[in-house]
Amino acid sequence: MKAAVYTGKNKLEIKTIADPELKKNGAVIKITGCGLCGSDIVKLKQGNLLEGNVLGHEITGYIYKIAENNRFKVGDRVVAGHHVPCFNCVFCKNENYSMCRQFKETNIFPGGFSEYIYVSEKHLSNTVFKIPQNLSDVDASFTEPVACCLRAVKRADVKPDDVVLVVGLGSIGIIMGQLLKHFKAKAIGCDLLENRIKIAQELGFNAVYKYTNDQELSDFIKSDFQKEGADKIFLASGNAKSLSLAFSAIRDGGKIIVFASIPTDEAGFSNNEIYYRELNILGSYSPSPEDLKKSLDLLEKNIIKVDKLVSFYDLKDINSAIEDTVLNKIIKAFIKI
Ligand SMILES: [Zn+2]
Ligand SMILES: [Zn+2]
Repeated sequence: MKAAVYTGKNKLEIKTIADPELKKNGAVIKITGCGLCGSDIVKLKQGNLLEGNVLGHEITGYIYKIAENNRFKVGDRVVAGHHVPCFNCVFCKNENYSMCRQFKETNIFPGGFSEYIYVSEKHLSNTVFKIPQNLSDVDASFTEPVACCLRAVKRADVKPDDVVLVVGLGSIGIIMGQLLKHFKAKAIGCDLLENRIKIAQELGFNAVYKYTNDQELSDFIKSDFQKEGADKIFLASGNAKSLSLAFSAIRDGGKIIVFASIPTDEAGFSNNEIYYRELNILGSYSPSPEDLKKSLDLLEKNIIKVDKLVSFYDLKDINSAIEDTVLNKIIKAFIKI
């Protein structure tokens, strides 16, 4: 089968590799498409992957081969989460599922940027879901990113009428704002790019600002929402400057949720602001099986709309998809397979 294979830092090549085999109690899924995630691009840039690796986890497809199973049959359209927690360890018991050792060890094989993948029985019982009839494959491929956002909203304990700033209106920021609205919070967005600002406005954010400087944005929030600052701030941009904006726009005692990877040497650490202002800073990373299920439901009910975010590419053009994403020519690439 064809797959986009990692061959070195920032390098993917389309190669023919062996089809995944059907092993006991698992299934082979024919991939119809896979979303290109910001984390795929971070991994490519860092270049720590093993050669031969295949990236891609926001998959959608249908059951192609399956061992005896009463939940799925050949032909079922499905989405699959790539990691499965054990539900038993200290991390799982504290709902830090993505820290669970089994979570980290389980994966789909080889990866979503290929024609077929193998999923284990653990996946089938926990993180593989049938796609509802009225939901397209591309919309369903957002199950994992929406679930990541859902988890972050839960971790931040977002309450009705909270004034929440989303820094960075890429696909994650746009999804986050819609979720905040769903939870009856006031969703504020900021970005540098007009096309993203426009989409956020169309999708009903309470306010969307074009970023000029930290002070101006903080003043806008204070005057437009009659607040001391944002109650919560989600950092959905990989730009290190978003940290200083967060410290400027957050109210004393507020929560900053780190939701994007920033190179450590650029991030810095504002110890005294956290201390004297009693700020809460927390990370949110990867969703639980329950979050995946709920997010598929939110997509099916059209509560989260993703159609304005997507640009389509064939597998052979995956490097253009990556380049266009990095250059902000597009918001989110869906690789058709
Ligand atoms: Zn992802
Ligand atoms: Zn566990």
